Parts: sequence; C-alpha cells; structure tokens
Amino acid sequence: MDQLRAPADETAVIRIVGQGLAGSTLALRLHDLGYKVRIYDNGYLSSSSMVAAGMWNPLSFVNLKRSWLAHELIPALQETYQRLEALLGCSFYHPLPLLRVFPDVGSANLWEERALHPEVAPYISQTELAGSEQHYGQPNGHGVVHGAGWLDLPLFLTAARAFLLDADSFHEGEVSAADITHWHEQGDWVIQCTGWKPMADNLWNDAPIQPNKGQVFTLSIEGLSADYMCNFGKFIIPLGSGLYRAGSTYEHGVLDTMPSEAANEILEDVQRCVKHSFSVFDHKAGFRPTTFDRKPVIGRHNQYERLCLFNGFGSRGVMLVPYFVEHLLNHLTTDSPIMKEVHWQRFAERRKRGS
Ligand SMILES: Cc1cc2nc3c(=O)[nH]c(=O)nc-3n(C[C@H](O)[C@H](O)[C@H](O)COP(=O)(O)OP(=O)(O)OC[C@H]3O[C@@H](n4cnc5c(N)ncnc54)[C@H](O)[C@@H]3O)c2cc1C
Repeated sequence: MDQLRAPADETAVIRIVGQGLAGSTLALRLHDLGYKVRIYDNGYLSSSSMVAAGMWNPLSFVNLKRSWLAHELIPALQETYQRLEALLGCSFYHPLPLLRVFPDVGSANLWEERALHPEVAPYISQTELAGSEQHYGQPNGHGVVHGAGWLDLPLFLTAARAFLLDADSFHEGEVSAADITHWHEQGDWVIQCTGWKPMADNLWNDAPIQPNKGQVFTLSIEGLSADYMCNFGKFIIPLGSGLYRAGSTYEHGVLDTMPSEAANEILEDVQRCVKHSFSVFDHKAGFRPTTFDRKPVIGRHNQYERLCLFNGFGSRGVMLVPYFVEHLLNHLTTDSPIMKEVHWQRFAERRKRGS
C-alpha cells in the first residue's frame, strides 16, 4: 500500500476537499509538517462548522458517563487548538466550566450516584460557581463539569482560510468526483472532508452520512454571567458583549436547512431556566454529518488507495477532529491500521455479517 513519505521526500500534493473544521485542521497540520497542501471549498455552501455552537463536554448527561474516548480526545484538542491559535494569531479556543442544572429529580439522583465513579470523577469540579442561582432557576440543584469549553468555529475557519490563501494553498470552487479521480491519476493524495452533502457520483456509497438538522440562536441577554456555560437540557454559551449562543435541536429526517418553528423549544427552555430577559439576535440552521453509530468514517478508498475519507464527525466534531487527524496521519505514514470503530467500511462489513 502507498505510504505518505516524510515531507522532504514527498513530491505529491495533498489535496483536501472541504474547508470545514475537519479539512482546516488537517490542512494546517500537514502544512505545519512541511507537506505541499491544497484545500478546496465551495464557499461554505453546505457548511456544518459555520453553524455549529462549537461546544465540547467530556461527559454524556444521558447516563452520566465519560463520553467515548474523552480521556484521549481532550488532551489532543487542548494541544491542537492552542497550537493553532499561536499559528493563526487569534483567540478561538475557550475552555470554560459547565454548570449542569439538573432538569429533573432523576438527573440529580444520577449525579449523586455516578459523580464518584473513576471515569466521571476527574471531570466533576469541586469548585462552586458562586451566585449561579441568581442566573439560572435550579429547583433540582446543579453540578459543575470541568474539562469543557467552546471553539469559535467561524473565527477559526476564517483565520485558517486567510492563512492558507496567503500560503497559496486555498482555492474556492466546487470539486467533482471527476476532479478527485483525475488528481489521483496524476499521483496526488486526496482527502475528502466534505461533510453531510454527498457529491454527484459519490465515491463513498458504503459510508452513509445521515444529515441531522440542528438549529441555534444567538441571544442578547442582559446581566447573565459570562464566566461559565450552562446545560439544562438545552445549553447556553457566553460569546462576549452580552451575546450568548443557545441550542440546539436534533431533527431527524428533515431535509431543508431553513430556520423553522421547531427551534421554539430552545426559546421556551431558555425562558423557563434563565432568570433574565432576552431578545433574539440571530437564528441559524444546518446539518450535522452523522452516521448510524455516531462515530466518524475514516480510511482509504478500495479502488483509489491515495484517496481518503475524513468525515462523519456528527455532533462532536470539536472533540473528535484533533485526535483523528493524528490517527489518519499515523495510518498514512506508517500503515498502522485505522481503528475499526471508525473505519468507513464497517457498515458494509456488518451488513455482510448480517448484524
Ligand atoms: C446546529 C448545530 C450545532 C452544532 N453544535 C456542535 C457543538 O456544539 N459541538 C460540536 O463539536 N459540533 C457541533 N456541531 C457539529 C459540527 O458542526 C460538525 O461536527 C463539524 O463542523 C463537521 O465539520 P466538517 O469539516 O466535517 O464538515 P463541514 O463543516 O460541513 O465542512 C465541509 C465543507 O466542505 C464544503 N464542500 C462540500 N462539498 C464540496 C464540494 N464538492 N466541493 C467543494 N467544497 C465542498 C462545504 O461547503 C463545507 O464548507 C453542530 C452542528 C449543527 C448543525
């Protein structure tokens, strides 16, 4: 199998299709290592990253467990986004405590039961967020998570694009399946990071991406603390200047990206939990690139071995992308296998096994 050579010996160009969170992080890493990189984007026409709230949280509140691979993903994201801030000269990485307001008695009991579990305890903060009762109604109590935060994705993407343009590595335009196979024929590497929207003549039919619609608001809220994020079923993230992101919806089987009334559930929950009045500043909708088992789809094409897929980051791209950039690069440079849980062929193999 072809291996990606050391940067000084690699004559081929690495072409990355899609300048979202996945493509940008990968392109900047390869550029940093000294590879010849070109990245292509059609003007964020189907961008999930430009809509995303950008939050990461090491815990899953459904069952109060550590989220999948969090103990490895969190160190990777800290290292990566701090390095990228220094490279791009702007501030988009915001680690912040997360106030978990228990939406019901069951959630409060679960916290009580699970908070000392060795998987969960490292992410439970013993430091109180003083005065949180002035800001959020919490009849069932609260807990505090640390190791969480949010990434300003539009700022990151805009800075990454400017940096790559300056390095003559960014090209605006639609890429087709024919472009990809042509680049491959001429000996280049191609990594497809195109998110939820399949191309005509999709080269990856066995890696089904299911678009999942989500909506978020930017709210103007006077007097609300900006020192931490809050989750009360829905979430609030402080953006600065009195603005807060509130989200989000999960709408399966909806095929349009228009903001709609389905998002009223967010405003109703904010009204119920936040003790300050607010007004809507902005309302956006987009699709998450999700898969059946909520894990990414990564790996090389069967027929075109220098063509790779790096996609399916669902609702957790901010946490997953930095770790899996290194995982993919390891695979390409050393032939170490792609983890079976994220290999793009796992669905076809499961179908064959009848599971
Ligand atoms: C409402 C909402 C809230 C979210 N909140 C969070 C959150 O809090 N935390 C979190 O981690 N994740 C969140 N997500 C998910 C997150 O957005 C994704 O995990 C992540 O942004 C996916 O990045 P990506 O680069 O794979 O895809 P994208 O960001 O979609 O990037 C793909 C890019 O490729 C371009 N493209 C596609 N086809 C072509 C082509 N043929 N030629 C050229 N360019 C092409 C697209 O226009 C786009 O710019 C949220 C998503 C939504 C919709």
